Amino acid sequence: MVTVEADLGRVERRLAAGELWCPSCGGVLAGWGRARPRQVRGPDGPVPLWPRRSRCTGCGVTHVLLPVTALLRRADTAAVVVSALAAKAKRGLGFRRIAAELARPVETVRGWLRRFAERAEAVRTVFTIWLAAVDADPVMPDTAGGVFADAVTVIAAVAAAVRARFGLLRVSLAETAVAVSGGRLLAPGWPGGAVQHEPALPR
Ligand SMILES: [Zn+2]
Repeated sequence: MVTVEADLGRVERRLAAGELWCPSCGGVLAGWGRARPRQVRGPDGPVPLWPRRSRCTGCGVTHVLLPVTALLRRADTAAVVVSALAAKAKRGLGFRRIAAELARPVETVRGWLRRFAERAEAVRTVFTIWLAAVDADPVMPDTAGGVFADAVTVIAAVAAAVRARFGLLRVSLAETAVAVSGGRLLAPGWPGGAVQHEPALPR
């Protein structure tokens, strides 16, 4: 699985130009059909998700190209999941209130918050390393009150650093979270498993 920008035309052009690389061996990825089409739940309703598949011309392993709008194995878009995390981190809301605001099941939202809380320290560490990598002279964010909030704060700092460094107007908290985690922000084994070292941020 490789994360790519949400712009499908751009992904096709990068595939055709040999600009996407295998996270296993570094070989060039070529188009290889599509993954199963499904729908994810966006902030304003269902969003079709029909990811491109690719196959490494080096090692032959196939990789799904997951757009930065989606998290691995989540039925809701990354924007929705990350907005729940931000609501707890920045506004101190509990899962019931967040679930009501997002019109999502209470247990679903509780699961997101719990899973993120369990790995918040590791997430904070990973994004702090990224912050230093993107910004040569990073302003480390003030601790916001608790490791959960700190982890979200440093994700936001990476998003701001990416915008500043690459002159981008729009790189969201959610896109940054997906790109740096390779879609695995809430997936088992991350951080600590194999994370793609060149996240595909939208350009
Ligand atoms: Zn390969």
